[in-house]
Amino acid sequence: MTHAEIAGAGLCGISTALLLRQAGWSVRVHEQASSVREIGAGIVLHEGACSVFEHLGLIDEIQEQGVLLDGSAALDSDGRVLADRELDGEFRQIALPRQTLMGLLLRAAEALDVEIVTGSKAIAARPDGTLVVDGDKEFHADLVVAADGFHSAVRDSLKLTAKKISRTNGATRALVKWESGESRTVLREYWSTDKRVGVIPVGDGLTYCYLSSPETDRRATAVPIDVAHWSAAFPGVPRELFELLSRADARHDSYAYVKPRAWAKGSVAIVGDALNALPPSLGLGVSLGLRNARLMVDAITSGVDVVTALQQWEAKARPDTEWIQNWSLRRERLAHNLPSPLAYVRSRMISRSNGMRGWSRNGKSFDGALVT
Ligand SMILES: Cc1cc2nc3c(=O)[nH]c(=O)nc-3n(C[C@H](O)[C@H](O)[C@H](O)COP(=O)(O)OP(=O)(O)OC[C@H]3O[C@@H](n4cnc5c(N)ncnc54)[C@H](O)[C@@H]3O)c2cc1C
Repeated sequence: MTHAEIAGAGLCGISTALLLRQAGWSVRVHEQASSVREIGAGIVLHEGACSVFEHLGLIDEIQEQGVLLDGSAALDSDGRVLADRELDGEFRQIALPRQTLMGLLLRAAEALDVEIVTGSKAIAARPDGTLVVDGDKEFHADLVVAADGFHSAVRDSLKLTAKKISRTNGATRALVKWESGESRTVLREYWSTDKRVGVIPVGDGLTYCYLSSPETDRRATAVPIDVAHWSAAFPGVPRELFELLSRADARHDSYAYVKPRAWAKGSVAIVGDALNALPPSLGLGVSLGLRNARLMVDAITSGVDVVTALQQWEAKARPDTEWIQNWSLRRERLAHNLPSPLAYVRSRMISRSNGMRGWSRNGKSFDGALVT
């Protein structure tokens, strides 16, 4: 049986393991932490991610445990609606707590006999298909996958990192027990001049919030969150929500961006944030990660040797990946680094384009381009 060693048990690492197992490979996943846990409160899965979970036979359970969103609205800081669009078809979005999603993936991994080794820190890989783990242990495989996130030690060991940037903007995220009381399930994103607040129902009476701002705004990045600062910037967001957030288990992270020199070296491939980290301004990190993982598995199971398959994979998948990364960077700047007089123009743009997600390439939307 062909065998893969994967470094990193995040959403992309575990999903890649499932895709490989489904294709008949044996798989071992190495996780540096002592347990597999998702950080970052909630997540919104766009259609690219949903299509991969559909392929894995997991979408019904994900939908049952999460919230299928009816709509996505952009509002100004006073709560005036700038745009409100229905979410269906290629714009389907499902929101859920990250740990719920991870629990579901781990159960699927157990059912498929994916081996997960915790406390196993990858330090390097060699192009011949060797993964080197802390403690001088070496594992040999037909394919090694670096799914070890933004700081990827495996990518660095192969000198594949061209750009790895902690951005000057970031977000604080938390889950709170709060419900809007509406029957329609809507992702609300409030925009002030240089900050955004996302308010998203994720089921079980929980709401996932992200508070996003420039890193230089020390009061905005503070944890616990500064209620006075955020409610002054967003009078349209219920103050009660900021008060609940100030008592919640919140976490702040800078946005990230990665551009690799190449997507693979020999029999070692990179996936997920290790490959294509991007600011979450379009919410497409997992969709991009899973789409590229699925295309990678399709390539290596197409009958050609692994090294050639990985080169063909990069040639096919890289253009749309960079297109989406570039637009995520632009949307990040538009949200957080715009001179204040232009904020009014931006609001007009959001209204006119119904949320500024309408750019297309070859007639495809961002979401549509990631559907596999
Ligand atoms: C504020 C914010 C909001 C976001 N919101 C969304 C959203 O709504 N929708 C969406 O699709 N995306 C979103 N994203 C992006 C999404 O979170 C990431 O793209 C996704 O989690 C990346 O998963 P990953 O498995 O590639 O990496 P990670 O989640 O970073 O997982 C890497 C794993 O590898 C382990 N690891 C690291 N180094 C080693 C090593 N040397 N050896 C072994 N194990 C190692 C880590 O412990 C971790 O478990 C958001 C990101 C941010 C910052």
